[in-house]
Amino acid sequence: MASPSDRAPLVERVEELLAVDGPLPIVAAGDPVLRRGTEPYDGQLGPELLARFIEALRVTMHAAPGVGLAAPQVGVPLRIAVIEDPAPVPEEVAVARGRVPQPFRVLVNPAYEPVGPARAAFFEGCLSVPGWQAVVARHAEVRLRGQDEHGHAVDELFMGWPARIVQHETDHLDGMLYLDRAELRSLSSNEEMVRRWTQPTPTTAAADLGFELP
Ligand code: ZN
Repeated sequence: MASPSDRAPLVERVEELLAVDGPLPIVAAGDPVLRRGTEPYDGQLGPELLARFIEALRVTMHAAPGVGLAAPQVGVPLRIAVIEDPAPVPEEVAVARGRVPQPFRVLVNPAYEPVGPARAAFFEGCLSVPGWQAVVARHAEVRLRGQDEHGHAVDELFMGWPARIVQHETDHLDGMLYLDRAELRSLSSNEEMVRRWTQPTPTTAAADLGFELP
């Protein structure tokens, strides 16, 4: 039987994070936890602590605000992420980007593979790289496999903006940041984004900053 002294470090780390109410601190690029990859989730936290951890991820994502958050972004190297996007954007932008509302979902042990050769390039940002955005060409459609928070198998197709979100969050679980895949010449501060790059697509940015679109 486990005594408190031989509890797994992961459990202790999560208990420690959840001891404080409210949104969790988000880890920024430069912290190795974002680069080391994650352990597959296999019940390490137990059902009650897992439920509390997921709720804390949800609260933190909403507070940020963001449309996805992966466990390493709060310093926990487990293969778990949450996503949710109410898609509060103008119709023209929503249509160009395929930004349909994505209800709250928990991704446990997700992995994706492309469906077809199509790619879509748009600006995106990351809560762990605050203040900046860059264009990333990603698979337009992916097949996502894994589990949900109850351990039920998930095998689903994602397209449009939700496909972008699941690729971004799954990449976090593999120790990747969106900048690893970005057109670095597109890198823009949030201020420049608001000032110049609010068009539905990055065509103008590509011409003015000098990068290729797929
Ligand atoms: Zn991110």
